Amino acid sequence: MSEQTNAFEMAQQQFDHVAKLLNLDPQVAEILRWPLREYHFRIPVRMDNGTIRVFEGFRVQHNDARGPSKGGIRFHPSETIDTVRALATWMTWKCAVVDIPLGGGKGGVIIDPATLSNGEKERLVRGYIQQIWKNIGPRQDVPAPDVGTTPQMMGWMMDEYSKLSGQYTPGVITGKPVGGGGSLGRTEATGFGVTYNVREALKRLKLDGSQARAAVQGFGNVAQYAAIGFTEIIGGKVVCVSYWDRTDQKAYTVSKEDGIDPHYLIRITDQYGSIDKAAAIAEGYQIEDAGAWISKDVDVLIPAALEGQINADTVQHISHSVKIVAEGANGPTTPEADEILRGRGIFVIPDFLCNSGGVTVSYFESVQNDMNFYWTREEVLERLDKRMTDAFAAVYEMAQNEDVSMRDAAYMVAISRVTKAMELRGWI
Ligand code: NAD
Repeated sequence: MSEQTNAFEMAQQQFDHVAKLLNLDPQVAEILRWPLREYHFRIPVRMDNGTIRVFEGFRVQHNDARGPSKGGIRFHPSETIDTVRALATWMTWKCAVVDIPLGGGKGGVIIDPATLSNGEKERLVRGYIQQIWKNIGPRQDVPAPDVGTTPQMMGWMMDEYSKLSGQYTPGVITGKPVGGGGSLGRTEATGFGVTYNVREALKRLKLDGSQARAAVQGFGNVAQYAAIGFTEIIGGKVVCVSYWDRTDQKAYTVSKEDGIDPHYLIRITDQYGSIDKAAAIAEGYQIEDAGAWISKDVDVLIPAALEGQINADTVQHISHSVKIVAEGANGPTTPEADEILRGRGIFVIPDFLCNSGGVTVSYFESVQNDMNFYWTREEVLERLDKRMTDAFAAVYEMAQNEDVSMRDAAYMVAISRVTKAMELRGWI
């Protein structure tokens, strides 16, 4: 989605569509169409040159009927209250569809973090917490990193909150570094979550995973672990990945018909995400243009880079062999292309189900913080697998029973669960 689109209007339209399918009481819909609480504040920061600059910050809590609000804090120059509202709303549905006892929240600051020194960043994140600390907490609202924020910043935020509240409180924030209250398994969580969803979809479609082939767009955090998961957990072959080359300022697809080795490609990927083309060619890989990934003769497409990649134009290039689209990225399919995929009978695993592994392990992180007892990587991944498998099953069953798409079914499951919690608490 481009920053020009009003994301919150889009979130409300999606909600209205499903509210109609569910025959939701209009009074209940009126609660869910809007965030319950919004905080808008100003953060004065002493800059390195001695001047004071004032930044604008937001924290939005869309709905906390099922538990404390959960969602990242973005630092972005074109952040707006409507973007934060939309993202908070989507977090409510994401947490509900994967059945973790959390609500939806999101935060933001209007700033390009690349323009700040490390010290300025630290003073800004501490200032953010000073403004909002009374309204967040392990039992109220638990932020996390997002675009423009890092595990180190989460560490500073946790420290500031702990100082202000007078108690070590690691569970106030997730996405902290391992060793500083973070959880093992968080790095691979989203990509492996995508894998578990694909495995379940293959089963439902009666396709043999060991014979399955996939094409992946992207080679960042989500794509790398989705590619490892597809080869090692499902036992299939990934025939290509794609990436943005910083030197050439263009994207490429890196392919190998008999299956890529994701670990080798990770070894030849630099810290900015660019793959060493010469090293790839030397190992028998082909370098193709950016769009090549989408027209591969595969069973599964995994867009795991950017939004809007499967659109009215590119959808025409999808091979007739494709049976599943697993949305690793947020919003990779435009509504028009979604309609075409549905018409062609392609099984789409919607983003907020498919990529919910990250928030699930964030939830595990706060649970471990609350207990002050940490799980092994294997325990984390086993619990993640169970959550994702159960979430997929609930959505699949809804899709079958109501004869709707997986996307509509995911919304229906999520909205029903939030409505049920509001009812049980006597809000409606
Ligand atoms: P990332 O920055 O680690 O990776 C992005 C990848 O996309 C990089 O490999 C980059 O080279 C590639 N890319 C950029 N432009 C491209 C182009 N034009 N063509 C092909 N490849 C291109 O990001 P990520 O964390 O892997 O996130 C990817 C998507 O997944 C985003 O939509 C994000 O919102 C979503 N997501 C991420 C998480 C998470 O836990 N990381 C959770 C949920 C959703």
